[in-house]
Amino acid sequence: MSQVTRADFDRVMVPNYAPADYIPVRGQGSRVWDQEGREYIDLAGGIAVSSLGHVHPALVGALTEQGNKIWHVSNGLTNEPALRLASKLVAATFADKVFFCNSGAEANEAAFKLARKYAIDNHGLDKHQLISTGNSFHGRTFFTVTVGGQPKYSDGFGPKPAGITHLPYNDIDALTAAMSHETAAVVIEPVQGEGGVLPAERAYLQAARELCDRYGALLIFDEVQTGVGRTGALYAYMEYGVIPDILTSAKSLGGGFPIGAMLTTDRIAKHFGVGSHGSTYGGNPLACAVAEAVIDVVSQPETLEGVRQRHDRLLSGLEAINARHGVFQQVRGMGLLLGAVLADGYRGRAKDFMTAAAREGVMVLQAGPDVVRFAPSLVIPETDIDEGLARFERAVAALAAV
Ligand SMILES: *Cc1c(COP(=O)(O)O)cnc(C)c1O
Repeated sequence: MSQVTRADFDRVMVPNYAPADYIPVRGQGSRVWDQEGREYIDLAGGIAVSSLGHVHPALVGALTEQGNKIWHVSNGLTNEPALRLASKLVAATFADKVFFCNSGAEANEAAFKLARKYAIDNHGLDKHQLISTGNSFHGRTFFTVTVGGQPKYSDGFGPKPAGITHLPYNDIDALTAAMSHETAAVVIEPVQGEGGVLPAERAYLQAARELCDRYGALLIFDEVQTGVGRTGALYAYMEYGVIPDILTSAKSLGGGFPIGAMLTTDRIAKHFGVGSHGSTYGGNPLACAVAEAVIDVVSQPETLEGVRQRHDRLLSGLEAINARHGVFQQVRGMGLLLGAVLADGYRGRAKDFMTAAAREGVMVLQAGPDVVRFAPSLVIPETDIDEGLARFERAVAALAAV
């Protein structure tokens, strides 16, 4: 096998990413090793994806078992893992029906198309407005990136899909003023993830629910980042006590194997009739077998209780670091999705924190230029949290010293 290095990225890969200078080759639980054999504590979970750490035995077991049975069937057929996973998701949530795809963007693409279809079927073409929030992130297809509230990601590609309104997040007055009988759907991340780990206020989600009911609009929760135990509940809507009409899930759902899902009710699902939407790989047996194993582990009360304990430990550790170094304005978030908002003197430098952390042997994320994000495995050993924090503090000290 020929040896590849980071330099090959610049040679053979489209330059839409700027990866770090090390290449991970192996993981175990919440530890990862690179080509040089250097060890990292993974407080990033990939990118809020590796919900059960790396090579979790239940997931490896499900993958290899299914891998020896059947990998692919066409959508002219169904398969057992998909039916089992869908049954479990339906049993555990508000939903009656599930559509499987391969990513968060595809789950949202399906959600937005379905919401438009439902509104237009029931009320005619004028009811097509989608209301979204500033700074939100819903994926990178042209429809989802346009619904997303970060124009820097959607500009430059020519005419955008129309009928999309962006409002400030957590702003009940703005939502009340903007909604009408032409609103097809309101889409909200219960915690804005990429946009800075900003949790919704309960009153805001409640108001969105009431306004959607008043105007016959659908409430879509994008739980691609918050779903599958990340916030300490199976889905964040349960924590908030506000039930959406459509929910999207991906990231943690596959624990590292690509899968996305859109969940909804019978009343809405029936508007996606035969032939109306689809995906070749969506709902494939391998992905569904792995996700079923993820759901089995995450929905155990001990796992969810463990998220709350780990939340407290990570949060208090970050606050202690801040008490010594004064680099954060605030640490916020839910469960194991935390954002350390950089203090004024450090604004715009989240990427420097990421790089410095990797140098000390700990993986963290950014959420925009001003927030350092933490999204570790839901079952990360507490000793790895402590060691990860110790390494992160060395990175903070190095940055604070210059
Ligand atoms: C990551 C993310 C997406 C996009 O998911 P992909 O799998 O990258 O397509 C959509 N919505 C939210 C909230 C996300 O965090």
